[in-house]
Amino acid sequence: GLDLTQFEVGDLIGEGAFGQVYVASHKRSKRVKVALKCMVKSQQDRYLDVDGHSTPVLAEVAMMLRLMNAPRCPNIIRLHNWLEVEDNFVLILEYAESYQTLLQYIKDTVDIEENQARQLMRQLIRAIMFCTERGVFHGDIHTANILVTLPRLELKLIDFGCAQPITQKPFNKSDYRGAGHGMPPEALRCRVFHANPAYVWTIGIMLYEIMHGRLAFNNRQSIMFGAIQIHPRLSTACVDLISQCLIRNPAKRLQLHQVEEHCWFNPTTPNPV
Ligand code: ADP
Ligand code: MG
Ligand code: MG
Repeated sequence: GLDLTQFEVGDLIGEGAFGQVYVASHKRSKRVKVALKCMVKSQQDRYLDVDGHSTPVLAEVAMMLRLMNAPRCPNIIRLHNWLEVEDNFVLILEYAESYQTLLQYIKDTVDIEENQARQLMRQLIRAIMFCTERGVFHGDIHTANILVTLPRLELKLIDFGCAQPITQKPFNKSDYRGAGHGMPPEALRCRVFHANPAYVWTIGIMLYEIMHGRLAFNNRQSIMFGAIQIHPRLSTACVDLISQCLIRNPAKRLQLHQVEEHCWFNPTTPNPV
């Protein structure tokens, strides 16, 4: 069986709201590096059945397992295994070596160029589309849950701690457990929301933040009513994409399958005359 003694635990590499993440190496298998995400079990933890089995596991594990069957998406961090040690859960994750958070990249880089933003957004959208195909709503996409490499700008989505299965039924506002500034306006206004339009809202929020170095909306009031201040240096295509993703009425918002076809992603295509 698998246990923690098989790992040599190294430095603390990250700390989120619920877990500490350590780099570690597996003693036997060629000392492969992994990331150990350690969490203390709590009353609020939710458990979901693993598809095809009846054993309930931590929702974070169940949701990640849906994404691990081949073909996998290179833009989603891999879950190798997990352990329960007394009162703790330990997720054994692929270690994103030489990656940094998108948060740090945005802090360090003044005026990120649209070409760079486009590379990042293509990969984020690929990860999101893959999640929808496997019935997973991530529910907590923000700049500390996205890792990137420099200078190649490869991207990996992490932290499925707020993820939920997508069903026919809409989500309730209370199902949204991610960071408050990522909440889509329909969740605030109607108290229910669907995964795909919520993902499109997130795409708009992330593109805005990459291009401006700050959040589009800081609080619930501005999510519902605030005007977005778009920087004049942005191309018209970029402004259009942000605006269409951040339409408050989800029925009028750009649809998920339309996002990749937006002209901002096809900059070499000449405009129709
Ligand atoms: P939490 O659920 O507590 O927010 P995360 O899964 O987001 O925990 O991890 C916290 C931080 O640890 C991340 O923001 C990131 O900096 C780092 N981290 C998490 N997983 C990895 C990984 N697989 N490889 C490298 N760094 C990671
Ligand atoms: Mg996190
Ligand atoms: Mg989390």
